[in-house]
Formats: sequence, structure tokens, C-alpha cells
Amino acid sequence: MKRVMALFLALAFMAAPIYAANKTEEKVHFIDVGQADCTLVESNGSYMLIDGGEEDDAETIKQYLRDNGVDTLTYIIATHPHADHIGSLDDVINSVPTKNVIMPRVSASTYCFENMARAIAGSKAAVIEPIVGSTYSLGDFKFTIIGPKRYAADNHNNNSVAIKLVNGSDRFVFTGDAEIEEETDIVDSGIDISADVLKIGHHGSRNSTSTAFLEKVAPKYAVISVGKDNSYGHPSDTIIDKLNSKKIQIYRTDTNGTVTAVSTGKGITFTMGGSARQDKEIGGADQKAAETYILNKHSMKFHKTTCIYGKKTSPANKVIYTGYSNTLVSLGYSPCKVCQP
Ligand SMILES: [Zn+2]
Ligand SMILES: [Zn+2]
Repeated sequence: MKRVMALFLALAFMAAPIYAANKTEEKVHFIDVGQADCTLVESNGSYMLIDGGEEDDAETIKQYLRDNGVDTLTYIIATHPHADHIGSLDDVINSVPTKNVIMPRVSASTYCFENMARAIAGSKAAVIEPIVGSTYSLGDFKFTIIGPKRYAADNHNNNSVAIKLVNGSDRFVFTGDAEIEEETDIVDSGIDISADVLKIGHHGSRNSTSTAFLEKVAPKYAVISVGKDNSYGHPSDTIIDKLNSKKIQIYRTDTNGTVTAVSTGKGITFTMGGSARQDKEIGGADQKAAETYILNKHSMKFHKTTCIYGKKTSPANKVIYTGYSNTLVSLGYSPCKVCQP
């Protein structure tokens, strides 16, 4: 009997460090995709992607997934059918096996929505409609759907899938582009939305992050996914002032590059600067002759006329321009890193 006990204790002591060594850190990567959204959540080799950038962020996102060893996506959350959130999801779904896509039960007659719908239909992914209060697991993370409670007919931002993601005592809230109307529904639902990290809604637009919502979440950290010198004026000074007045630490992809939150279940630390973007240095006008480029008015990228991502630009956002690349840069455009115009 004694020997059995001794053996049991020996096994227990041996097992403990093995378990500890296998325990991975949970991470939330706010990938720098310029004026768009794309977040990778990872735990113990399970992965979830929340949104998928613009249509010409596909190479950046796929490279980031490869660099991080993502072989399968257990979940993709397509928060709402706007091009800066679902633009590359067709490419991602076509190249990374995806088990589930959580998306609002709304459709859009846009080029990028139709591409995503086609990719989902051609994949093995199950489509899940978000129901407020439903919970899911991803490794050590659990997440709960907190919005949308109802669908807005006039504004897809307020149809954004919103979640609270939890690992131990570490809590994150994501709201896509939800504006004050959806935030109010979330507050009124009475669900506990207090969190350490708030991914600021709608790239820091003044139409989101109402005081009531911010005070309910009461985060220590705010992350804003936003492009440098974007034409929307995001993030709004009002929102930055509001966060500063509450002494909330702000991380932003335009100044910090890709921001990664590392969660132990007992605390969160941040690493910065692991930018997935490899925008190329542009030479002066004297080094280049005038050329014709395809511009994407929405993503503010420009492409060679032969670039597949340039050609894929939806007609509503496409502009054909002949001139100098550095003029485009001075207008706020950045070169596509695939075709490197
Ligand atoms: Zn957006
Ligand atoms: Zn939107």
C-alpha cells in the first residue's frame, strides 16, 4: 500500500511540471492592417480571427497567420458586412481550414460580402448566428456574445457581433463598429461587460464609445485599430480625451504597429511593434516616371494595374490614376505590399 502511495506521489510530482511546461500563454494579436480591423486570438493551438481587414490586406493577414503557425481557425467572427472588416475573409477562408463563422444574419449586395459568402459556401465552415448570451470556448478562453440584440435596417455598424472574451481573471470586450445605439442595447441587457481591455468601437469614431458604455466596461487598456492619416479623422479627439480623462492606457495600430496582449489568466501585458505590414519605401518623383495605378479609395492603398488585389478592388472604391507614386503617398495612400508599385 505504502509503495502504491509513493508511486502515486512520484507520478503526481512528475506530472505537475509537465503540465506547467505545456501551459501556453494566451494571446490576442491586434494586427496592424491600417484603416481596418483584424484580431487573432490564440490559446493552446486553437485560433479565432475577429474580422479580416480590407480586400488588399489578404497577404498581410495570411502571412501573419503562417508566421504564428495557424493551421486551422476554429472560429472566424465576421462582425458586420463592411469592406474594412470582411474584405480579406474570402481569401482567408479559401486558404485556412475554418470550422465556424459567426456572423450577423444580414446580407449586403457588395462585392466583398458576395465573395465572402461564396467562400463560406465552398468551405466546410458552419455558419453561426450570434445570439446574445451564447458562450463558446477557444482553448482556455471563453467568450460570450453580448450583441447585437436586434438588427438595424439602416446601419450595419449596429449589427456588429460583440463579444466578451475571458481567460481566468483577464477580460476583453470587442464590439466591431458598434455605435452608440448598439452599445446602449448592450448596457441595457444587464450582462456583465466589465473588462480589462476594450477594443475601441469603430476605429475610435465619435459615434461609438459612449460614456455610459465606457463606464460599464471600465477598462484599464484601450486598443484602437486605425490607419495613419486616414480620411475619416479616426480616432476622434473626443474619444482620446475621454480615455485620457479616465487614465486608460491607449494602444493604437497606427503608432504602435501590431499590438499583442499576453494573458496569463492573472494579468495582461502588452508587446508592440510586431507590425505585419511591410510597406515599401517610396523613391522621389525624379526616380520614377509617371505610371498608371489602381487606387482603392476606401483602404487608401494603391496598386500596379496588373496586381490581383488592385483588380479585385470593388468598382465603388476603384480609381484609375496616372502620375507619381510619391504624390499618392503625400495624399495619404500607401503602396500595396504585394505588387509593390
Ligand atoms: Zn470598420
Ligand atoms: Zn463598419
